[in-house]
Amino acid sequence: MSQNEPWHCLSTEAILNKLATTAYGLSESAAKTRLDSFGPNRLPEAPPVTVTQLFFRQFYSPLIYILIVAAVFSLVIGEEKDAAFIAAVLLLNAAIGTYQEWKAERSSQALKSMLQIKALVRRDQRIREVSAEEVVPGDVLYLESGNRVPADLRLLSANNLEIDESLLTGESLSVRKNADWLGDASVPLGDRENMAFAGSIVTKGRSKGVVVATALETQVGKLAKAIQSAPSNPPPLIQRMNRFSKAIAVITIIAAILIGILGAFLSHYTASEMFLFVVALSVAVIPEGLPVAMTVALAVATSKMAKRGVIVRRLTAVEGLGSCTLIATDKTGTLTVNELTIKEIRLASQEKYLVTGEGFAPQGEIQPEGEGDEKELLSLIKAGVLCNEGDLYHTREGWRWRGDAVDIALLSLGVKGGLLKSELSKGAGKVDEIPFESENQYSATVHREGGHRVIYAKGAPEKILEMCGLDSDVYEQTTTEMAALGYKVLALASGPCSENWQGESPENMTFLGFVGMIDPLRPGVQEAIRKCHLSGIHVAMVTGDHKVTALAIAKELGLAKEQSQVVTGIDLAHYSSKDYERALDKGRVFARVTPTQKLQLVSAAIAKGHFVAVTGDGANDAPAMRQANIGVAMGKSGTDVAREASELVLSDDDFSSIVSGIEEGRIAYDNIRKVIYFLISTGAAELVLMALAFGAGLPLPLLPVQILWLNLVTSGIQDVALAFEPGEKNIMARAPRSPKEAIFNRLMIERTIVGALVMGTVGFLAFQWMLAQGWSEGASRNVLLLLMVVFENFHLGNCRSETQSCLKLSPFRSPVLLSGALMALALHIGVMHVPITQKVLDVEPVSLEVMAVIALLAFLIVPAMELHKLWWRFWQKKSDSFGLVLSSKS
Ligand code: ADP
Ligand code: MG
Repeated sequence: MSQNEPWHCLSTEAILNKLATTAYGLSESAAKTRLDSFGPNRLPEAPPVTVTQLFFRQFYSPLIYILIVAAVFSLVIGEEKDAAFIAAVLLLNAAIGTYQEWKAERSSQALKSMLQIKALVRRDQRIREVSAEEVVPGDVLYLESGNRVPADLRLLSANNLEIDESLLTGESLSVRKNADWLGDASVPLGDRENMAFAGSIVTKGRSKGVVVATALETQVGKLAKAIQSAPSNPPPLIQRMNRFSKAIAVITIIAAILIGILGAFLSHYTASEMFLFVVALSVAVIPEGLPVAMTVALAVATSKMAKRGVIVRRLTAVEGLGSCTLIATDKTGTLTVNELTIKEIRLASQEKYLVTGEGFAPQGEIQPEGEGDEKELLSLIKAGVLCNEGDLYHTREGWRWRGDAVDIALLSLGVKGGLLKSELSKGAGKVDEIPFESENQYSATVHREGGHRVIYAKGAPEKILEMCGLDSDVYEQTTTEMAALGYKVLALASGPCSENWQGESPENMTFLGFVGMIDPLRPGVQEAIRKCHLSGIHVAMVTGDHKVTALAIAKELGLAKEQSQVVTGIDLAHYSSKDYERALDKGRVFARVTPTQKLQLVSAAIAKGHFVAVTGDGANDAPAMRQANIGVAMGKSGTDVAREASELVLSDDDFSSIVSGIEEGRIAYDNIRKVIYFLISTGAAELVLMALAFGAGLPLPLLPVQILWLNLVTSGIQDVALAFEPGEKNIMARAPRSPKEAIFNRLMIERTIVGALVMGTVGFLAFQWMLAQGWSEGASRNVLLLLMVVFENFHLGNCRSETQSCLKLSPFRSPVLLSGALMALALHIGVMHVPITQKVLDVEPVSLEVMAVIALLAFLIVPAMELHKLWWRFWQKKSDSFGLVLSSKS
């Protein structure tokens, strides 16, 4: 089968012949043979980055350049030991970085397989879902809105089908398809109305088609090289960190020059001592451990989120979710389990039936409440079974189903009433349909029954009653009664259909009755909503369902209390953008909302300053999801398009998972701040120490190798441990952080200054005292280095919370942190005892008395930081009352 075959010019018979298949698809075994000969239906992916590439990438950083320069400097001034050590540290750093990125790469590969595209194929007379990779030429596929077309198809039927082919043609408007069209070979790709091409997106309608090409043979396969995924921008957090590194590099260079100039006037240093100062200084300022700790913090958050049902597609979302202030959520499937069960039937004659049973499995009975009217009841059930896109069948393993929950519920009702779709279809073959799209709020099918055409319709009561020429007010009481019980109410109708029907909205229909279905609430959602309210996150339900049903469910969830909190799509239709913003203030439930209105709601919320997470499942939700700060797609019920438009995917479709995600996002952001604070404040302490020593004309207090050891190894272990901190207790009880807030806010700057001054000054005084006692430079440095290590260990405790006293946080709350701290200390003491490392780091064992004094001195950092925390809390309380006055004005 040549790739240049002009498939669009051939009749469907010719194509089916050529592909040796039928309009009913292949057999399972034929498909398997073809899969072996044609290979899987996927495009070759960009080769994954190799470990070598990853390794060399670790060196592209201004900070690393400075360290390289420092190593070269050391070599020039004859400090080969320093040079070698710096080189070793650089290699170690690159190795750790490579390992981390390699792990991240691998987990992102695993993610890809979870987000695979599915295809609906017909094989062995049964429609089933397979992975798009298993599709072969000759397969008969079904498409519906929201699908990404898995292969090149010649359409056998197309119903209202519109496809977005921008990937191939650049044309952003969807094109309408027509299975009966035939063209000649010269027709350009974008105008081939009887074809659907791999990679394009179904925006509307339904279709059936036969696969003519897969993998590289498809049109997109031929372009594959051109569209291989472009490298995406690094997330803002990483960008911010990159800018931060550059700033540090510049500061280092300026400081080095400054020292050089000052040194020229201060006579007590030789040129090589000066060099040593410069090298030590650059090493001190650079937070060598930062990139690794950041990667770890994000990786920890990503994997914890995955465990709680949130798959992160874009790392941005990890930090962003923590700032979320408004969740606009779907009702069906997200707040509810989406296992609809019909509980009540009201025939047109007002005759009432109750239905027993739970869930989709058709076990239950239909019982009349009064006299009953068997004939009318069966007409209604028949309409529901025929006007249906789902499947419900019995297998040896029990009942199986496929399709929309509303459809399956109606099929289940059919079985309870003794009407099977397969049986009914024999006497009433489907010839045409208007498939369900949520903006239409109904679906209809046309059947040939004994020489006549009959149309069946089901959908929102207002829509169906209008088709029947009935005033919906007459039935208002019935529908409201049902909706107030939380039932989703659907109306059904049937009517004659003219031979030349072209898909217009049905008219002159006969009303058959209503069905009321329950959709049980998801367990845990109530609690999740309570948590949101507690943490200042607004929750709004945005649904296509009726306002009374929506409010009944919202009440049960504690989301809304009264009628006045409901805004309907009809209200919104007259709203200006200012009104939209106002509606967001009081509205908790938005009912009968169209996808366009959903998009406008999201825009209005963002304009109001909200940081919005919005959930969606259908193709028409994609614009709102893209507009939102964080698009959240449903992993199970969501379409390909929705998942591709999203930053996060909920693997179980559960609302509570979003809230867990927010919690993890807050923890991650907090931890990143803690890590940064820890590294910067200890680096700044070394700087203070050196500046004081330099000013006092003392020798270099710590050698470059020692500083490097301190920054990379001991504090390296400690800060990675900090990235594992569990969330603080009050994490969901505080207001969301402003997304614009800089990492280095006032609090962090003050803390850094206080911490650095305390540790740096104490270190300097100790060093000065030891030299004054006549200790050698080496012995003094040895003790000072140990003091700094212990300082860091105590300081680690301070960094665990920005507001809470560290005495309130048990060290056993975070085993990783405790063992990290102990490991760093043990490692350093070990190094003081091993001959080789003694030489490299210029260290030696110290006596127990010295140890005790060091521990006492180092402990000073704890009360110092506690005092600052106290002061900060006091200041905050005062400014809070002041802040309230300010914010109420804005
Ligand atoms: P929801 O927010 O509850 O998911 P949808 O946008 O899916 O609402 O549906 C809007 C309305 O369309 C529903 O309230 C119902 O009246 C009607 N409807 C839903 N599903 C179907 C279907 N499969 N066939 C016909 N009508 C439907
Ligand atoms: Mg829906």
